Amino acid sequence: MTSEADFIIRAGWLFSAEPDAVAQENTAIAVKDRRIAAVGTDAEIESTWHACEVIELPNHLLLPGLINAHTHSPMTLLRGVGNDMPLHEWLFELIFPLEAKWVSSEFVADGARLALAEMIRAGITCFSDQYYFPEIIADIAHETGMRAQIAVPIIEQANAWVQSSEDGLRRTTELHDHWRGDDFITIAHAPHAPYTVEVATFEKLASISEEIQSQIHIHLHETSQEVEDYQRAHGCTPIRKLHDIGLISPRLQAVHMTALDDADLETIAENNVGVVHCPQSNALLASGPSPLMRLCESGVTVGLGTDGAVSNNSLDVLQEMRAAKLLASKAGDEHSTLSTADFVRLGTIDSACVIGRDDHIGSLETGKWADMIAIDMSACAAQPIYDVLASVLLTASASRVTHVWVGGTPLLQDGSLTTLDEQETLARAKTWGTKISAGLRA
Ligand SMILES: [Zn+2]
Repeated sequence: MTSEADFIIRAGWLFSAEPDAVAQENTAIAVKDRRIAAVGTDAEIESTWHACEVIELPNHLLLPGLINAHTHSPMTLLRGVGNDMPLHEWLFELIFPLEAKWVSSEFVADGARLALAEMIRAGITCFSDQYYFPEIIADIAHETGMRAQIAVPIIEQANAWVQSSEDGLRRTTELHDHWRGDDFITIAHAPHAPYTVEVATFEKLASISEEIQSQIHIHLHETSQEVEDYQRAHGCTPIRKLHDIGLISPRLQAVHMTALDDADLETIAENNVGVVHCPQSNALLASGPSPLMRLCESGVTVGLGTDGAVSNNSLDVLQEMRAAKLLASKAGDEHSTLSTADFVRLGTIDSACVIGRDDHIGSLETGKWADMIAIDMSACAAQPIYDVLASVLLTASASRVTHVWVGGTPLLQDGSLTTLDEQETLARAKTWGTKISAGLRA
């Protein structure tokens, strides 16, 4: 007696992330009503499940959909600008003025579509975004069929979207109400950073967030310079100040965290703060590496983010996993004790945990949404395969992702995006590139 599934995938290998962090051979997965109905060996699934559609992927590894826990999707339109500048100068002298000149609802829509096309092709099924006009990004993610945490910006300076941090707080509550209960979109508060948001605003945020139980997503301790400047101005580190205000909690998602003393590390570990590690962005902007080993040894859950394309150049979580692996030993000044599976978990179940969605996504387990991807393992660069997971970690990138499903719906199929007009998206990005580069030369 077999049960009927919507479709079955038979794959050469499968890594579920939970409950076992081991890649299995000759596996299959049954999908029913947008969720994972069963995961097992070919023989187990064949004896218990039937489906009219069976997708055969003998040369592929199935993984949970990758989660990009920190990005600024519309910034794809500024990709490649000012790559040789350190963070502070780059942000205040180049990026903020460029945004003041160009950001509009149209810029955000076109940049977000470009980012979503790039992320789907890279096997990303869920992303956390922080940018102006967040309501537009939420709508586009929803239309495209991706899951997203839309982290609504709160920043003192007026911008094309709102006039003040007060407006940002109000709009977060409105969007939080609008998307309440949605399976795809969640809304978080996103105070930009301690150096762009006033203490009084953080105090208001603490009480609003407590009331609506929102997640809070913030750039925090991104460089040692940020921490030193803050200590001079406020007499304590940003983490200590946020702790005094009542914002250090399991609902806080701290992005970057490169400069941490022992007391700050203890504070975030004790309060179950999630950390988003952005190894390539930190390297590009010379921010210094985040102490991944120390964080993990202290019991902190760490996810991975690409940051915006402007401070990375690509939105590819497979590359972030590899960068995290390569930089882990250097940051800790000792050999990394994290396993291959640990690094793959960073971009899947651990990122899901950091954004508060690990009950629903991040692993290939019965009952979770069928958010999954297939990676082609037949490439020359992957041969021979002794350890499929190590091979993915150390050789794969976006170009090897062939299939992407979110809630069982294919978003990438036979090399084509199914829910986005890629040619139109590329044409609009090219037009923006021409306009912006003419402005840079003027
Ligand atoms: Zn960022």
